[in-house]
Amino acid sequence: MQVLKDKIEAEGVVIQNSLLKVDSFLNHQLDPELMVKLGEEFAHRFKDNKVTKVLTIESSGIAVAIMVGLALKVPVVFERKKKSAVCNDDVYSTTVYSFTKNESNYVTVAKELLTAGENVMIIDDFLANGEAALGLTHIVEQAGAHVAGIGIVIEKSFQPGAEKLQKAGYRVESLVRIKSFSNGQVNYV
Ligand code: 5GP
Repeated sequence: MQVLKDKIEAEGVVIQNSLLKVDSFLNHQLDPELMVKLGEEFAHRFKDNKVTKVLTIESSGIAVAIMVGLALKVPVVFERKKKSAVCNDDVYSTTVYSFTKNESNYVTVAKELLTAGENVMIIDDFLANGEAALGLTHIVEQAGAHVAGIGIVIEKSFQPGAEKLQKAGYRVESLVRIKSFSNGQVNYV
């Protein structure tokens, strides 16, 4: 998606040739006009899939997910991160290891918000090792719902996440795919 590549070129910062910092438009400050465009692009790619709900994980997925929900006219749910794994019968839960923060998070979704038979589109900001996205699929499956597909804003294709998800049978739609970082530059697939 060219408008996203242009934004990354203009404002993205490559850290240690492994991480991309996009705090100025996606992860801390948000560019609303760009968010609308990202939402419309995902909605276009999934327009024939009868999506009934969008699911993401707090916090960075929420801005994009709500724009997808707006474009598809469906509700948006986000996984909450909880501090402890307190047993609660009213939630679906899983544990997600965070690549950037080097910590595990216990995440939950209230059972009443996700029901069997729903067709759920998963959204996240980045795809690296696939932990966050797989955690989202686990929640959908616990609910007896179906994963319509996984929409990713920025895929780092040099990490195994996309391949892992595709091997598990999920459709992955990434708006940009990064092949590598070199000397602070972003190289696309
Ligand atoms: P994964 O679970 O696929 O290993 O990593 C995806 C999660 O880690 C995303 O939800 C995102 O928050 C974070 N992440 C992974 N790589 C990057 C990166 O290069 N830049 C930023 N800003 N976040 C990243």
